[in-house]
Amino acid sequence: MAATIGILLFIGALYSEDTKQNRRQMECVSNLMQIDGVSQAWALESKKAVTDTYSLTDTTMLQYTKGSVLPICPSGGTYTPGTNLNDVPRCNVPGHQLLYKTPMGGYPR
Ligand SMILES: [Zn+2]
Repeated sequence: MAATIGILLFIGALYSEDTKQNRRQMECVSNLMQIDGVSQAWALESKKAVTDTYSLTDTTMLQYTKGSVLPICPSGGTYTPGTNLNDVPRCNVPGHQLLYKTPMGGYPR
């Protein structure tokens, strides 16, 4: 009986840890989408080419983010910019990745 409860608690713990990880992953991907969108808006305003590089500490770009600060990965990962404006920004936590690129100038509304 005690063993059964133990197993159930164990499965429950695994499940909730998984859910937490998924939530963090989704939040991080949403941050990456924001960073990517911001870099594209900044690129358009600054008349940059897709082959130009960018920096995540560039304050002229960060002013397009919420509160003018770079979002933070909920799992403590580190964000790095894409190799150029045609590439996506990345997080160093496995699974935290943007699967598609924001079009130049952002999504149509
Ligand atoms: Zn992350």
